[in-house]
Amino acid sequence: QIELSAIRKSFDGTDVLKGIDFHIADGEFISLVGPSGCGKSTLLRIIAGLEPQNSGEVHIDGRQVDGIRPSARNLAMVFQSYALYPHLSTFDNIAVPLRMRRLSAIERLPLLGALLPSRRAKERHIRADIEGIAEQLDITPLLRRKPGQLSGGQRQRVAVGRAMVREPLAFLFDEPLSNLDAKLRVHMRAELAELHSRLKATFVYVTHDQAEAMTMSSRIAVMMGGELIQAGTPAEIYNEPGDIRVAEFIGSPK
Ligand code: ATP
Ligand code: MG
Repeated sequence: QIELSAIRKSFDGTDVLKGIDFHIADGEFISLVGPSGCGKSTLLRIIAGLEPQNSGEVHIDGRQVDGIRPSARNLAMVFQSYALYPHLSTFDNIAVPLRMRRLSAIERLPLLGALLPSRRAKERHIRADIEGIAEQLDITPLLRRKPGQLSGGQRQRVAVGRAMVREPLAFLFDEPLSNLDAKLRVHMRAELAELHSRLKATFVYVTHDQAEAMTMSSRIAVMMGGELIQAGTPAEIYNEPGDIRVAEFIGSPK
């Protein structure tokens, strides 16, 4: 679970987040929505530890994480551009974090390291882990291909796979579909929703596309001008918008 209390952030004297209080429970698919510039990405980056807040606290699974570096927060951030290594296969892309973590400096040497029995044992574990993840994501036939030979949606699944090997407490997405064409985007919504129900992990999903949020999320938090003005299930937000700004943004009937 992720607990935000009184998060404030300003850039160059302008308040971008004006005191955000929010609780995200385990296994939720929560979408942060709101117009461009309302502070969604900034809030996500603060949760991830990529940006310090000016005041307020972030707790992840009960642990206060302020000052704790991003990689030690045990969260997976899936970016818009996925940042896969173009020269590596799907298998090797997913293996990157595992190899970094599991191999000592000497074991990482390509020739000498390969002769060490410990490295061979670790490679067997890595292979087993990745095969399991590939099966969950339905990308087993893609393991030998490089990113250039994958569709946008497949690349996204590889990026999720690479995030999964760290066994994160939650996945953070910042508009991961915004580079895709409209048709693929609709297809990917269904895939992400399915992925969420399969993994049963916590998803925090930033988007300015309210239709995307309505179809995928278990709960939606609406932000405007640096404030979180309403949170609820898609039906609650749609049927009982807290104020006129929410109604207009979501497109509720008046
Ligand atoms: P979008 O939907 O366009 O991605 P957003 O809700 O994600 O918008 P943020 O990126 O969080 O918005 O930005 C919130 C505000 O903070 C904006 O006015 C933006 O210009 C400003 N801002 C964000 N990052 C910085 C920065 N590093 N330096 C100065 N201002 C920034
Ligand atoms: Mg943004």
